[in-house]
Amino acid sequence: MKFEDLKLITDNIEESGKPIVIAGPCSAETEEQTLSTARQLAMGGVKVFRAGIWKPRTKPGGFDGVGKIGLSWLKRVKEETGMLIATEVAMRSHVLEALDAGVDILWIGARTAANPFAVQEIADTLHEQGATDIAVMVKNPVNPDIELWIGALERIYNAGIRRLATIHRGFSFYGESIYRNLPQWHIPIELHRRLPQLPIIIDPSHMGGKRELIAPLCQQALDMKFSGLMIECHCSPDEAWSDKNQQITPEVLRFILSTLVVRNENRDGESLQNLRRQIDNIDSELLELYARRMSVSREIGKYKKEHSMPVVQESRYDDLIRSRVAAAIQMGMSAEFMKTVLQAIHEESVRQQIEILNPKTL
Ligand code: PEP
Ligand code: MN
Repeated sequence: MKFEDLKLITDNIEESGKPIVIAGPCSAETEEQTLSTARQLAMGGVKVFRAGIWKPRTKPGGFDGVGKIGLSWLKRVKEETGMLIATEVAMRSHVLEALDAGVDILWIGARTAANPFAVQEIADTLHEQGATDIAVMVKNPVNPDIELWIGALERIYNAGIRRLATIHRGFSFYGESIYRNLPQWHIPIELHRRLPQLPIIIDPSHMGGKRELIAPLCQQALDMKFSGLMIECHCSPDEAWSDKNQQITPEVLRFILSTLVVRNENRDGESLQNLRRQIDNIDSELLELYARRMSVSREIGKYKKEHSMPVVQESRYDDLIRSRVAAAIQMGMSAEFMKTVLQAIHEESVRQQIEILNPKTL
């Protein structure tokens, strides 16, 4: 499925080459907070307002959204400011209420996108209601599974929705990171390769989880030709009832937007071609090095087999990561990057050694 007949998610708003900006609070909390945030955003030129009405919380007992009453506040935002309004839906009743309130754009959150039953229920409800002109944005599922992500998009597309976009908000993980949800850029890049017509929007707020990561993540995404930004903004972020560490004021948003650079020149000059040739050469050297490393690793596998040793020696692995990461930092690379590369290499080494130890089982 190629999604070739997609339409813009926001007619009259998307200007070619310019990223679409969607902003608003994590949650609608009160009528005042919703309207005051919206008015400030509208004054700053934002055309699409987001606010969560039903909030999926990790644990029970947290603020789980104001519910239906919030939709009447969103309606007021639309009437007063002319902005389009967007909210998250996770089940049939949400869709029915959002349609009833005239919501322009629905989004499916990351937890819901990971659940095919829930996505299908949303798709079926839209289809049954004949609501095929509404726009739907599907966030990436919480887990880094591109097929599950595409599957969710297909379910919505098959319901007749053509105003379709997707949002990259990063993936859950276990352990430590500067991010709240890991970007894993190769996954949206692969998604774009497979579905080139589908707009991809970045959500730096849930990806970074902190204010200072918003600007760099937006710039990174624009440099990778993402089509838009969805950013959590609140009139008093420190008092927000949810996700306060990652929300910014409309004024800060305006400043960030003014610093972003959209590079849409597409000139392949001679010097660029030269640099690309250098990259091609370096990549082929890297491939050879990987192959050599794997062959040494297989030799180690044979040794371990002869001496009845287990494949993984934790202390060796820890030392290896520590020393390589330290060296990488010295060379101006990030620890995060080097860890990811080393983990992938190590996983493949382990796989190859297991193959040597158990030749018939794999
Ligand atoms: C949100 O956008 O408010 C939200 C809950 O995000 P996510 O589904 O990405 O966690
Ligand atoms: Mn949030």
